[in-house]
Amino acid sequence: MRRKIVAGNWKMNKTSVEAEELSRVVREQTGEITGADIVLCPPFTALAHVSAAVEGSTIALGAQNMHWETKGAYTGEVSANMLLTLKCDYVILGHSERRAYFGEIDEIVARKVKAAIAAGLTPIVCVGETKSQREDGVTEKVVGTQIRGAFEGLTPDEFEGIVVAYEPVWAIGTGLTASTEQAQEVHAYIRAILGEMMGADSAAGTRIQYGGSVKPGNARELFSQPDIDGGLIGGAALDADSFRGIVEAAMPEDK
Ligand code: PEP
Repeated sequence: MRRKIVAGNWKMNKTSVEAEELSRVVREQTGEITGADIVLCPPFTALAHVSAAVEGSTIALGAQNMHWETKGAYTGEVSANMLLTLKCDYVILGHSERRAYFGEIDEIVARKVKAAIAAGLTPIVCVGETKSQREDGVTEKVVGTQIRGAFEGLTPDEFEGIVVAYEPVWAIGTGLTASTEQAQEVHAYIRAILGEMMGADSAAGTRIQYGGSVKPGNARELFSQPDIDGGLIGGAALDADSFRGIVEAAMPEDK
């Protein structure tokens, strides 16, 4: 049975002071939860503050991006090791906003995935189709290409533990959510491709999050689908009560 994972992607929101305050409240509300994995991904500038605020709780820390090189002349960039020293366990890679605004193509995502694994960070790798791609009926083609592009060349051992986030671009920050059927269909497809690439056991053990306007009101139904293992949460993660509601929806029934 896969353990659900809920990650808050705060994007370019919250100063370090605001982030510390939000993470303190999130910790009060969810910091002792053991039935699901919880990850907070603040901006780089707030990682140290959030790291200190969640230390000793069950909440883990993640970054929203990193560079694939270990160090050097890459102005404005941050390495995996720098994230590790702030006690990050996770890093979001290939988010659709990075693909759309910063030219992050599959080859770059793949380099980052390899560098994150080599450093000991767990990548949360985002894939998803745009509205026009869905309308054109090429969702599976697009998502399949992104999955193969990100993980090509990895062994099942290297792949172990990686988290995938299916985020239809048309549902991110729009208030539109994929129906549970639409989401489950793509999640099952992703798992099938991972099975071809990494083998059935590895695919069966991989956690695939859904992302795209998840709220407390729709989280339970989405998370109840057989191939949906939690959520990557944008807007609703900026509100501690909403985030708690989503985390509660990810808890096993007997908790
Ligand atoms: C995201 O950015 O990863 C996301 C899913 O955003 P939102 O929840 O706001 O749609």
